[in-house]
Amino acid sequence: MAFRLGAQSLARLKGVHPQLVRVVQRAIEISAVDFLVLEGVRTPQRQRELYAQGRTKPGDVVTWTLTSNHFVKSDGFGHAVDLAPWPIDWEGPTRFPKFDAISRAMFAAAEELGVKIRWGADWDGDGKPRERGETDSPHFELGA
Ligand SMILES: [Zn+2]
Repeated sequence: MAFRLGAQSLARLKGVHPQLVRVVQRAIEISAVDFLVLEGVRTPQRQRELYAQGRTKPGDVVTWTLTSNHFVKSDGFGHAVDLAPWPIDWEGPTRFPKFDAISRAMFAAAEELGVKIRWGADWDGDGKPRERGETDSPHFELGA
């Protein structure tokens, strides 16, 4: 069983660093759960809107910073993607296992391709997701 990225997911990878795109494209082939790309390159304007959410606009706080690895970097590419299980499941009891399955596929793909990545649910990379209350399960970015 292999999943495929839909047209919208592929469009959202435009402008993302080619190494990270390759990881996502390999991950979907080996993932145990289907997923989609929510966001790739983000503009500073969009980040300001996200930052306002939960502060000066309604909603939950979703970001703590006005900078982002989703921005286009000096190499001309965005360095982050947000992925979510398909069908989307933000609230259900299975959401974390599904995000974890995506993460396993992403790290396996990254290893295979020799690309270093970081995950927003495990910033220190010790394999224990959300141990410090990390909330960014959809987020993957190129590592140093
Ligand atoms: Zn992100």
